[in-house]
Amino acid sequence: MNPNIRKKVLDKYNKKCAYCGKEILMDEMKIDHYVPKSKGGNDDLDNLLPACDICNHYKDSHNINKFKYLLLNIIKKIKKLYIVKVAMRYDLIEFKEFSEFYYERLSSDTTDNENHKP
Ligand SMILES: [Zn+2]
Repeated sequence: MNPNIRKKVLDKYNKKCAYCGKEILMDEMKIDHYVPKSKGGNDDLDNLLPACDICNHYKDSHNINKFKYLLLNIIKKIKKLYIVKVAMRYDLIEFKEFSEFYYERLSSDTTDNENHKP
């Protein structure tokens, strides 16, 4: 993709992944289609979000609601692992529920936008 567009995408969220908020470098940034191309998304800047490797891979070609659903179900999946059951029995780990994406956190700080679209 055109380097100027890549820079604009990276700068959208202060050089952070739009989903998790981790800082990312230009070289490692993945460009995510908010609405996946397979679901009719386009290449307009509005539809392009900077993403880290992990978020880009886990979101895959899912829409935002499916991605959120997957994140909300991670804890349920993890708790099925025997080693995690042991760790829970001994109070060695704590879990936090997924609450919101980085871009949602930013938009709720600055606007009343309830859609929380990037
Ligand atoms: Zn991320």
